[in-house]
Amino acid sequence: MKVTAVTCHLLQSKVDRPFVSARGWRYATRSSCIVEITTDEGITGWGECYGPAAVNKTLIETQYAPRIIGRDPFDVEVVWEDLYNRIKDYGAQGFAITALSGIDIALWDIMGRAVGKPIHKLIGGAHRTEVMAYATGLYFIDMDCLIEEAVEEAVGYAEQGFRAIKMKIGLGDPAFDVRRVKAVREAIGPDIRLAVDANHCFTVPQAIRLGRMLEPLDILWFEEPISPEDHDGYVEVTRALDMAVAGGENDFTRWGFRDVIARKAMDIVQPDVCAAGGISECRKIAALASAHGVECVPHAWGSAIGLAATLQFLAALPDMPPAFRPIPPMLEFEQTPNPLRDELAQEPIRQHRGIVRVPEGPGLGIEVNREALARWKVA
Ligand code: CA
Repeated sequence: MKVTAVTCHLLQSKVDRPFVSARGWRYATRSSCIVEITTDEGITGWGECYGPAAVNKTLIETQYAPRIIGRDPFDVEVVWEDLYNRIKDYGAQGFAITALSGIDIALWDIMGRAVGKPIHKLIGGAHRTEVMAYATGLYFIDMDCLIEEAVEEAVGYAEQGFRAIKMKIGLGDPAFDVRRVKAVREAIGPDIRLAVDANHCFTVPQAIRLGRMLEPLDILWFEEPISPEDHDGYVEVTRALDMAVAGGENDFTRWGFRDVIARKAMDIVQPDVCAAGGISECRKIAALASAHGVECVPHAWGSAIGLAATLQFLAALPDMPPAFRPIPPMLEFEQTPNPLRDELAQEPIRQHRGIVRVPEGPGLGIEVNREALARWKVA
């Protein structure tokens, strides 16, 4: 089998009620670079790249696509090493790797379709056929009622059956952050897991101080307390707090994660399959994490394609640690309005009572809705 074409689709949708995280960026649109790879055997594979879509598209079209035409998708890791080694002098992190991730996922999708098996059967098998999903939301939308809107949204997720929720923090006033998290904790009760995500807005002392104030509220993990470049700082925050510290959505490849994991700078690493290097590379990151006793719980923030790829990866992740009643890795199921997540698969990925089934169909396990693809395509 040989690759005949690589096509990038830039999809974009408007967000009706723009939302903000601690980084202060206002999300008024959702966009994604979707990668379509066709072969001479009539099999098509799909992938997705995290981050600004136009840049991923240009990078793939100018740097990667010409080197993939004619290659066998089953040489997925050979292709990965070739593309990485061609580009790394100019970028061993960021866009070079997010673009590569979309290609890698599409090649795995092709392999699965070629043998009629879901990707997780090709990467070790299913440790689980369904995963617990946590609802990511509770951004800052209406600055006049930040506590009320967070409580209302969290209660809504609890009513939908979610057993875990992740909320945004980082309002520039630790006391206000604590009041908001406390209000959410009181509203959802003690049985629903609650994680907080600061989108790296704090300094080390700020993060430690706030973390200590939040610990009595039974926080599952404190995500991205500080800037992703500061691995020393992560060691300090992780050692200082009793609760788990998480991060890694802005880290890339086995080399990027190596130092974080080997130093146990985080309790939980969160590689994104659409960013950190695809399924091939995330498997290596997960193996590194396992070897160092660090949990691996992938980050996800994309369309149905990225979500399906994350589910395939999650199915094949061992429990860490294995136990009679293990706590398996959860799926990040982002809940802000996003038609690219809800409409791009013919059969959307849904949760029921907080549980999402791992797609069993070949490859990613979903079929792309070409009508939706055309509807949201801007380039
Ligand atoms: Ca995050």
